[in-house]
Amino acid sequence: MRVLVAGGAGFIGSHYVRELVSGGYPAFAGAEVTVLDKLTYAGDLANLEPVAGRFAFVHGDVCNGELLAHLVPGHDVVINFAAESHVDRSIASAGEFVRTNVQGVQALMQACLDAGTPRIVQVSTDEVYGSIDTGSWDEDAPLAPNSPYSAAKAGGDMIARAYARTHGLPVSITRCGNNYGPYQFPEKVIPLFATNLMDGRTVPLYGDGGNVRDWIHVADHCRGIQLVAERADRAEPGEVFHIAGTAELTNLELTRRLLDALGAGWDRVERVADRKGHDRRYSLDDAKLRGLGYAPTIGFEEGLAATVRWYEENRDWWEPLKKRAEDAR
Ligand code: NAD
Repeated sequence: MRVLVAGGAGFIGSHYVRELVSGGYPAFAGAEVTVLDKLTYAGDLANLEPVAGRFAFVHGDVCNGELLAHLVPGHDVVINFAAESHVDRSIASAGEFVRTNVQGVQALMQACLDAGTPRIVQVSTDEVYGSIDTGSWDEDAPLAPNSPYSAAKAGGDMIARAYARTHGLPVSITRCGNNYGPYQFPEKVIPLFATNLMDGRTVPLYGDGGNVRDWIHVADHCRGIQLVAERADRAEPGEVFHIAGTAELTNLELTRRLLDALGAGWDRVERVADRKGHDRRYSLDDAKLRGLGYAPTIGFEEGLAATVRWYEENRDWWEPLKKRAEDAR
C-alpha cells in the first residue's frame, strides 16, 4: 500500500506520519509513505526527525498540477493536511490562504481523479460552520465561515464535494475542533502561552476571554482521520465526518490551566483587543464517527500536562521557530 500525505511536515500531518510509519495504524501496516510539503514557515522536517529515512519526501507545492500529475499515480490513499492554518495571519493577509486552501485542494482532487485514487481524505475544520452559541453542529449544518482562513477552508471543502458529486471522486472530508499536542507551531495559543510563561513573559488574552473552543489531542484527531481513510472507498463520495474534542473551555479557563501548570499567576496575563470577527464558540456533534467505533482516548488534563512537559523538554525545537517568527514581524 502507498500513502501520500500532503502537508505532512506540519503539526498534525507530521503526527499522522510519525504514527503511520511506526505501525500505529495496523490497517496500513507496512505502507510506503510519501510526504509532499512546501515547507512554509509552519512546515519543518525536524517534525519528522524521529522517523527520518522511513518515508519519501517531495519538496513541493500542492497547487502544482504538473508535479501532482507525476506524484499522485500509484498511491492507494491520499490525505491532504496542506494548508495555511493560522487565523490571525489570514486576517493580516489572505491571498496565500485562498491559494493553498482552495486552489491546492482543486489541484489535488484533479490529480486524484486523473490517477483514479481509490481513497482520499480532505482534512478540514469546525470553523467552516461559523459560530454557535448553544448546541452542536451535525455534518449537515450549513457552512457560514467568518474568517479568511475558515472561508478558504470551506472553499476547499466545497471543491472536494464538487469533485465527489460531479465525478464520484471517493473523497471523505473530516472536520475537527482545536488541536493541541507536541510539535505545534508556537504561534498557536497553547504553545504560545506555555512557551511565553516558560520564558517569564506575559501572555496575550483576547477580549473578555469568553470565547469557547473544543480541544482535542492531535493523536485522537489523527486516529479519527485514519478511521475515515480506511473506509473512504466505502463512504458516500464527499461524505463529511466530525471529530469532536474532549474539553469545551473558554480561553479564560484554558489560560487558568496553563498558568497553574507552569506555576504562574494572573499578573502574567495581558488583556489585548479582541481578534477581528472572533467566533464565539465552535461545537461539533461526532455521533456519526463514534457510531463507526471511534472514541477519543486522551483526557484534556492528562494531554495538556504531557504537552506542557514536551515543550519544557524540547526548547531546542521551538526556540528558533519562535525567534524567526518574531523577527519576521
Ligand atoms: P500547520 O500550519 O502546522 O501545517 C500545514 C503544513 O502544510 C505545513 O507543513 C506547511 O509547510 C504545509 N503547506 C502549506 N502550504 C502548502 C502548499 N502550498 N503546498 C504544500 N504544503 C503546504 O497546520 P496544522 O495545524 O497541522 O493543520 C493541518 C490541517 O488540519 C489543515 O488543513 C488545517 O486546516 C486542519 N485543522 C487544523 C486544526 C488545528 O487546530 N490545528 C483543527 C482542525 C483542522
